[in-house]
Amino acid sequence: MKRREMLCASAALMGCAGLLPARIWAQDSLALGQARLDILSDGQLLLPGDFITRSMPQEELAPIAARHALSPYEFEPPCNVTLLRDGPRKVLFDIGAGQDLMDSVGHLPQALAALAVDPAEITHLVLTHAHPDHLWGLLDDFGDPFLPNAEMLIGVGEYEYWMRPETITEMGMLREHFAVGAQRRLGRVQDRLRLFADGDEILPGVLAIGTPGHTPGHMSFHLHQDGQSVMVLADAFDNGHVAFERPHWHSGSDHDPALAAQTRQSLLSRIMAEDVPVIGYHLPGNGLGRVEQRRDGTHVFRPKSG
Ligand SMILES: [Zn+2]
Repeated sequence: MKRREMLCASAALMGCAGLLPARIWAQDSLALGQARLDILSDGQLLLPGDFITRSMPQEELAPIAARHALSPYEFEPPCNVTLLRDGPRKVLFDIGAGQDLMDSVGHLPQALAALAVDPAEITHLVLTHAHPDHLWGLLDDFGDPFLPNAEMLIGVGEYEYWMRPETITEMGMLREHFAVGAQRRLGRVQDRLRLFADGDEILPGVLAIGTPGHTPGHMSFHLHQDGQSVMVLADAFDNGHVAFERPHWHSGSDHDPALAAQTRQSLLSRIMAEDVPVIGYHLPGNGLGRVEQRRDGTHVFRPKSG
């Protein structure tokens, strides 16, 4: 048995034994012209309750937190990986957290198995940014690429930022392992990386939108086909509550909070102007939904389900 078959077999075995979380993969799918989008769950992060809200104005935050039933103790955002199947192309947007981050994430291999998609069939991996919950699933337990045949695409600014030797020291003790982890993984697949820039049509019907701030080279994507479109936001909106209700507030998860807030506001205008459905990596209800404007001018994310 080859290594990969063994990994797949053990993933299937775990599924049979009922050791997986209840939600292995999201049920949501969306037709996009002739293509099909599925949203797969890599699991969910377990973070402190004030992880993103600690620097926000607490009095103004209180009614928003109450409206969205936010726990002051835990923040447990889902991790929603998008799979685009378009003719001969099978494209993943991000690759999940793998086994080295926390136990509650790293379930993408089982999610793919549940959809009967072999990792060897994936033709392209598009990385939105190089944070652990989006990148660390790149290598399997043997240190080999989990996707043996995929071309891998990442924004040039994001790649250059994480590969600079200084980034490790600049990150500070709490996050330096983010940089070490990114360098090791991106370095391992260097021979099949393709770098792209803001505004590039990286694949037919997949347009890159530079959305810096969450990380220096963070990218979102506009997917379009036969007059239909959807935006893959990744972490430009890192939650389904304050990010939409108060996009100008600074989030604790952003590398450059002021730039990220600016990015959110301009992206929000574009989403409303184009009236386009969105998929967010950490948005609730499987991440797929629409953004609506309330009478008071604030915005709200309405999940398709969940
Ligand atoms: Zn994330």
